[in-house]
Amino acid sequence: RIVPKGHKGPLEKKTIATVSLAGCFGCHMSMLDIDTELLDIIELVEFNKSPLTDIKTFTRRCHLGIVEGGCCNTENIETLRTFREMCDILVVMGECAAWGGLPAMRNTIPLGECLEEAYLNCVTAEPGEHTIPYHEDLPKILDRVYGCSEIVKVDYTIPGCPPNAAHIWKVIKSLLWGESFSVLYSEFKYD
Ligand code: SF4
Repeated sequence: RIVPKGHKGPLEKKTIATVSLAGCFGCHMSMLDIDTELLDIIELVEFNKSPLTDIKTFTRRCHLGIVEGGCCNTENIETLRTFREMCDILVVMGECAAWGGLPAMRNTIPLGECLEEAYLNCVTAEPGEHTIPYHEDLPKILDRVYGCSEIVKVDYTIPGCPPNAAHIWKVIKSLLWGESFSVLYSEFKYD
């Protein structure tokens, strides 16, 4: 069980929020890889805004915010700023959140060229049938993909693509209950 060593009495239930910005959701999938240990954790942790709960907006301030993915559009930036505001500790998990990761492969190509390639010149485009989507309600695509720390202050970064489940949960337990854990070399994961 994940009860910190030497702790007596009931533990305060901590609240965690998570979000996937410009990422592939692989980091969230990895977080769930702890299998049955999740049952222990659920007793000590309550998820607030998260794709895991489908809660869309914060219902309270959280102890910990965990962000997957970097920022590729204006909505990502707005969401990230809300996480910074609503979470005491902000952790980014995975390479996309840390510095942009795979989506940042577009950073060496001007945005206009990326959009033309995706919507006008791709192999499935029929001449004259495709336009670059635009609507005032759609989030605006940024000139490049930004790592989270370029937008807000980030407290901790969990490296990996995706980070190993044990690594993620060791960081969470350590931050929430103050117990230190060693992360094994084998738990640094880049698949
Ligand atoms: Fe997906 Fe890897 Fe990015 Fe995580 S770091 S969102 S697993 S590409």
